[in-house]
Amino acid sequence: MYQLYSLRDKLGMTAKVLEAGSGVGGTWFWNRYPGARCDSESHTYMYYFSKEIIQEWEWSERYPQQPEILRYLNFVADKLKLRSDIELDTRMSQAHFDEATNRWHVKTENGKEYNAQYLITAVGCLSSANMPKIKGLSDFKGKWYHTGQWPHEGVDFKGKRVGVIGTGSTGIQAIPVIAASAAHLTVFQRTPNYSLPARNAPLTPEFKKYAKEHADDIRKIMTTNTNGHGFYIEDKSALEVPEDERLKAYEKKWEQGGFQFRALYRDILTSAEANETAAQFIRNKIKQIVKKPEVAELLADIDHPFAAKRPPVDSHYFETYNRDNVSLVDIRKAPIECITANGIKTTEHEYPLDIIVFATGFDAMTGSLVKLDVTGRNGRTLREYWHAGPRTYLGLQIPGFPNMFTITGPGSPSVLCNMPPAIEQHVEWITRCIKHMRDKGLDCVEVPESSGDAWQAEVDAAANATLLPKVKHSWYLGANVPGKPQVFMPYAGGLSHYRDICEEVIQDNYRGFEFHAAR
Ligand code: NAP
Repeated sequence: MYQLYSLRDKLGMTAKVLEAGSGVGGTWFWNRYPGARCDSESHTYMYYFSKEIIQEWEWSERYPQQPEILRYLNFVADKLKLRSDIELDTRMSQAHFDEATNRWHVKTENGKEYNAQYLITAVGCLSSANMPKIKGLSDFKGKWYHTGQWPHEGVDFKGKRVGVIGTGSTGIQAIPVIAASAAHLTVFQRTPNYSLPARNAPLTPEFKKYAKEHADDIRKIMTTNTNGHGFYIEDKSALEVPEDERLKAYEKKWEQGGFQFRALYRDILTSAEANETAAQFIRNKIKQIVKKPEVAELLADIDHPFAAKRPPVDSHYFETYNRDNVSLVDIRKAPIECITANGIKTTEHEYPLDIIVFATGFDAMTGSLVKLDVTGRNGRTLREYWHAGPRTYLGLQIPGFPNMFTITGPGSPSVLCNMPPAIEQHVEWITRCIKHMRDKGLDCVEVPESSGDAWQAEVDAAANATLLPKVKHSWYLGANVPGKPQVFMPYAGGLSHYRDICEEVIQDNYRGFEFHAAR
């Protein structure tokens, strides 16, 4: 939907959006699990479609829930009259680049075929579900669900014994809500996780008025900071502040809630020592909140730096373990052996269950692209080209795949950001590139291998300047999917710096790109 609006309206071109679901909304169409809500604050969580939309739409909460975000996206689709250009229920099954005509031939699962000059993928960084292959799942007599493919009619947990596998952002959002209605909830935790309190609340009329009146200022901050949020990272080291002052600052941000905690000091993600001050603060908080010491110990036994995996923002996650109907199982110590007809069996115990919820994440960043079955120059598929890990130029184009653009592709800041500003920057860049081609009578744009190699070196260098690649079990590296090559995928140099690079590339006559004139 995003690319359709910008390209169609700015270039007046015909654009077709293929949507696999029976409604618009992408992530927010599919992720209907209990507790699903955005983790960036509502007034910053918006694609800048138009000033009018920002003024007209009113968010109700600091962190809106999935139904509200989906309503917003439907409102946008109506407002911008996008629906006539969107083909719903249309899953692309194949795309093939025709070198003779410089056009893409696209086939869909429902037997339709399209022919297009440009193929722009906006398939999401986190949309290909990661379902672990656990022996015995087909024997299970109860019901099971993956959070990213949640049934639209909802799931009734009342009176049920529920097991949740996974304590990433999704599990951490879902666990408190499931616990509130299940007879018993068993959480199977492999890697304990940090989480920051969201302190979600309805937005006050004063705040709504402020956000509308200052929409341009907020947008300016979002487009000039590191992660696309509505606040800047302080230019101060955690280590130059006396301990009592630092603890007070952490306490204040903890009480305020949200990601601003991470923005208190500039070196939280670059210095292990600075990071440990924040990590220690959160571990202490977990131990204060969770009443049973052995459970608190298990939750706080975190083996990686704070924010080196994308930090969740929660509503009463740790407090949930104080409920009598919730238990925590350490599957790092006693791994899951199999699923039986009656539940989950670890190496130590069998847990009888009626429902299993897999909050096990996604084949992130590359999974949804590789699945598309795309064939570029010389008959080479994307799966073949990326067999050792993704390679792109700026996360915008892939060598050997001319006239194809990847919105928030690997090699761009994407998942290290509040996603909408990252998506928006890509859409604007692609729009300018296509306009440039039209103005100059160019027919084809592509990137040579050398551009991909040089950019990959930048991606590696940016990651290695942070603590991010130190987490060996992170999905940023692809480590959550067995057999996936382990390469740090997003660009960690920050969105504003990346934006500057993309601008310089344009100013330098699209440095690193190659264009061909129409034959
Ligand atoms: P995730 O961060 O990859 O977490 C998956 C969880 O499942 C981890 O705890 C993982 O354990 C566990 N797991 C995976 N395979 C397993 C297996 N075979 N056995 C046992 N445990 C297993 O996925 P996610 O929670 O869906 O979050 C993914 C990303 O989506 C987030 O980082 C965030 O960027 C985004 N997200 C955003 C929002 C939002 O904006 N509101 C909400 C939810 C998610 P290990 O850590 O040991 O691998």
